[in-house]
This record gives sequence, C-alpha cells and structure tokens, in this order.
Amino acid sequence: MPSTAPYCGRFAPSPTGALHFGSLIAAVACYLDARTNRGRWLVRMEDIDPPREVPGAADDILHTLEAFGFEWDDAVLYQSRRTAAYQAALEQLQQQGHTYPCGCSRKGIAQQGRPGVEGIIYPGTCRAGLPPEREARTTRLVTPNPPVGFMDKIQGKIEQSIAQEVGDFIIRRSDGLFAYQLAVVVDDAWQGVTHIVRGADLMHSTPRQLYLQRLLSHPAPGYAHLPLAVDAAGNKLSKQTGSLPIDRKTPLPALLAALRFLHQPLPDEQPASLQEFWQWAVANWDIKRAPRQQIQPMPLR
Ligand code: GLU
Repeated sequence: MPSTAPYCGRFAPSPTGALHFGSLIAAVACYLDARTNRGRWLVRMEDIDPPREVPGAADDILHTLEAFGFEWDDAVLYQSRRTAAYQAALEQLQQQGHTYPCGCSRKGIAQQGRPGVEGIIYPGTCRAGLPPEREARTTRLVTPNPPVGFMDKIQGKIEQSIAQEVGDFIIRRSDGLFAYQLAVVVDDAWQGVTHIVRGADLMHSTPRQLYLQRLLSHPAPGYAHLPLAVDAAGNKLSKQTGSLPIDRKTPLPALLAALRFLHQPLPDEQPASLQEFWQWAVANWDIKRAPRQQIQPMPLR
C-alpha cells in the first residue's frame, strides 16, 4: 500500500553531459517512487561546478526528461542561483565552530593521508589552526568519530564513522565554489524533500549529509540507494566517460530496460504510448524489489 505520509522526491542531475542509461535508472526510480506514493517530484539542476560542466548539457537533460514523459512539479531549481543560501549555511556552521580554514594542498594531503572510502582521508593538519605562513585555501568541517547511521530502504542498515572513514571534508573549495555536500543538504531541506532515491555511488556521502542536516537543524529525509549500472568490463556508466547517451526518439526500450534493471515486473505487451507505460509502471512499482547489490551489469537490449 502506498503510504499516506507526505512525500516529496527529486532528481538532481549535474550538467556534466547528456543523460545516459545510468542516470535514467535513477530518474525512473525516484519518479516512480514519488508517484506511487502520491508524492511530489522535483527536478534540481546541480550546476555548481562550472569546471566540470558541459555547455548545453542542462537543457539537453531537461529535453530528454521531457521526451521520456517525466512530469515535474514546480519550476526546475538551479543551484547556480542559490549561492546566498549556501553562504548563509556556511556562516551558520562557522559561527557554531564546526568549521576551520585549511591551507593544505592536494599534493600535501596525498603524501600524508591514508586512503578512505572516497579518496584520501584528510589527516587533520589544520584542525588546530593554520600553520604559520599558510594561507587558507578551503573550508573544512570538523567530523565526528561516533558512527552516523541510517536505514536504507534498499541496502539496509548503513553506518559510517565520518572522521575515520572520510575525514574532515571540504564544504568550500579552494576555487571559492561550495561543495556538493553542503549544497545538496541546503537545497533538499529548502525544497522540502522527504525521500531521496539515487545511485549507490552516493551512499558514502549520505552520512556526511545526515551530519550536516543535524548541524543545520534540518529534518533527515529517507534514503534508498540503487545499484549502479556497469558495462561489460565492469566500469560505471557515467557522463564523463561518454557512456551511451539515450535516444530521445525511442524512449520506450530504454524505459523498459530501466524497469528490468530494477527487477520490476514488465508489461506482457510493449505499451502503445509513453502515457500507457507510465500508468503501468506507477501501478506496478515496488522499490523493495530493487536489487541490493551495489553494482549490476547493464541489461542487453
Ligand atoms: N548531482 C548528483 C549527480 O548527478 C546527484 C546528487 C544527489 O542525488 O544527491 O551525481
């Protein structure tokens, strides 16, 4: 039975390339989960990292979503227009004493830090104050030792000691840009997002986001992390590697492949229209069927 609690989901692509099969899976899953729960569904363009962005990709992604029959509530939120909100959150964290300026270079950290779940763990060099003659480059968050945990709807119980497995992480980068971890937490709260369904590549980020939510007094949404599609060689599909953009002219085969990938039942006959596909998919969606493994080969079409 769909729950009657208010539900707001979102799809939050970064405009680093065209939508590919991997991101389509996330879009399909979060859309169906929202609609099955009679929830709202938002699209947020995470365009806060210009060096990694591809001109025209944001519009291209939106056109593809439209051509695939996705319908979002409210206007698309662009993170590039939310700098003042990220600045306010940064100042709040600074005033509460949770941050510190860091003068370390990437190279220095690579030499001193040990590997963690996501790159090198920052060894804490500037935690007690900037060493003499070092200038601040980034702003870091002081992280807690006790594990931060959550119950993932697909993956089960997840726990992480952020201090030991990730380290004090950057919330403002050396180029002055705000980090994804901060922006995503500020916007999920501001948009009233209650349920986050996304790829398992972001699962290691969730404890950091839960911790930031706690510090900023934001409610914690529910999380579900989907398996990631990999190619035959086991490589993650990503926009950066130019993996398989999907064809706007033939959405149905890709949509059906996404359902198959997520272990959802398939209609006996190919739906006659996108509208028929979505009606069927909403009526038959069950997130609990999504496979628990964190990577899964892409289905052959
Ligand atoms: N913008 C992120 C990406 O495209 C996703 C963020 C999220 O879902 O939290 O990988």
